[in-house]
Amino acid sequence: MLKKILFAGIIFYLFVACNNPKPSYVFIEGFTQGGTFRIKYLPNKDTIPVNEIYSLLNQINASLSLYDSNSIICRINKNDTTVELDRYFLEIFRESYKAYQQTDGAFDITVAPLVRYWGFIPKNNNNNPAAIDSLLQFVGMEKIHLVNNKLVKDNPNVQLDVNGIAQGYTVDKLSMLLESKKVQHYMIEVGGEVKVKGKNPNGQLWKVGIDKPIENSNELNRELQTILQITDISIATSGSYRKFIEKDGIKYSHTINPKTGIPTFHRLLSVTILHSSCTQADALATAIMVMGLEKGISYIKENNLKAYLIFSDEKGHLQTWFSKELEKNIVTVDAKNN
Ligand code: ADP
Ligand code: MG
Repeated sequence: MLKKILFAGIIFYLFVACNNPKPSYVFIEGFTQGGTFRIKYLPNKDTIPVNEIYSLLNQINASLSLYDSNSIICRINKNDTTVELDRYFLEIFRESYKAYQQTDGAFDITVAPLVRYWGFIPKNNNNNPAAIDSLLQFVGMEKIHLVNNKLVKDNPNVQLDVNGIAQGYTVDKLSMLLESKKVQHYMIEVGGEVKVKGKNPNGQLWKVGIDKPIENSNELNRELQTILQITDISIATSGSYRKFIEKDGIKYSHTINPKTGIPTFHRLLSVTILHSSCTQADALATAIMVMGLEKGISYIKENNLKAYLIFSDEKGHLQTWFSKELEKNIVTVDAKNN
């Protein structure tokens, strides 16, 4: 999610202790997009200046953050006609449109008015079907067009929210920065979305954990459902358990079905997608969360995606489903594969 700009300037910049003669990996950790980022990499010749990393993160925020009223996306939402689109906006727009088409509109960045309706109006306790219906007329990516690098809306009430894809996109941009410096071994994580390449500091595949879906889980109380040993791939998770709102005793996830205007509330709790592109992995994880368990599994099979799902069964017990190809990557398993 692209939330507040929280560049508090806290950076832990340390060399991971490795026994010689193993080369030293560099570890950088900080805050961005309302969460944390971590980068671990084996320097080629020189380390990458931290300010280059922050400069990239700042530029992405200046383009895509909903919490910076001067960002390009906020100015588009306010119908500022003088706004100039930058490469970050254009790239994420195209990636979003691709995901929109591939998921039959389950991933849709024009969901913004609905996100605002459900999440940003806490005092509005009465779910008003008429209000939701009236907002649905502004939802759908076919209502916006890129014309000569300008965004043209069919209706000024159409608004954008790229939080469902921005962290994965940021991971891909950071990986391009590292690869431009000929870095071949790295792990990049932004708000839980990850890309790994080459080997970890022990010369092995990277180990990436998938969280158990525990309500309100955070860095302190998180538990792992499983660990995957992987490399040369991106991995993104969308979950209904961490961020939700409660209205009249009902919990609603922050993932909204753009067709109905209603947040998802089904037994699919967590969707993890492995993909060469972290941007697409992030968008597809959100879209499959919208589809739900049965439709999501069919979609995964039809599109040959690699996925790991966690859901609750009729008795409320956690169950998992994962693509057959992932079996060899799983370090700990607690359920049958399919
Ligand atoms: P997380 O990884 O934290 O579970 P996601 O990647 O699933 O988050 O993104 C959820 C965010 O995406 C929501 O907070 C909202 O801003 C936006 N969003 C919600 N529903 C959709 C949707 N159907 N398509 C695109 N973006 C969405
Ligand atoms: Mg997402």
